[in-house]
Amino acid sequence: MLAPTHLFFALALAYILKLPKLPAAIAGIAVDLDIVFNLLDTVFPFTHRGLIHTPLFLATVAWIFYYITKNKEQTRGIALGYASHLFLDVITPAGIILLFPITAVFSLNAVGYSNLVANTGMILLSIIFIFLFRTKKKHSLGNRYRFLCFLIFIISTCLIAYLGGFFPHTVYDPFLPLY
Ligand SMILES: [Zn+2]
Repeated sequence: MLAPTHLFFALALAYILKLPKLPAAIAGIAVDLDIVFNLLDTVFPFTHRGLIHTPLFLATVAWIFYYITKNKEQTRGIALGYASHLFLDVITPAGIILLFPITAVFSLNAVGYSNLVANTGMILLSIIFIFLFRTKKKHSLGNRYRFLCFLIFIISTCLIAYLGGFFPHTVYDPFLPLY
């Protein structure tokens, strides 16, 4: 998905699961910085959607961050944002190397990353959830309720992706030449 979609999706999850927003948002978009590999002409796994786009690297980043900061909450925020990014990329045809070092690509192949309907729908859905959870009193929501909302949010996101597959319109992406 496009960077704003990753940003709002990660933020919404942080609101729903009551985890630090800023680390989740930063991790949610930072994963695609591996696009610089395409400029450097490096070889696999040091490519866009290579090693950096794997749960193994997520775990490594989270572990290093926790080792340095000893801050569990911030680490969880980073892990959440990172995982949210990988989830959205799994939806797209290009997929990710989910089980690295096994190099098979894992993809749900539902919708292209720059699909207009999917990106717009996911951003709107995320904003709705952010708004809903911003207005709730911080400690009034039980974990069960949050988990239920998490499931509804994820399932709705998948449905939006599936729906987007029926509409081929794409958003212009200034970074496209890098792919
Ligand atoms: Zn990505």
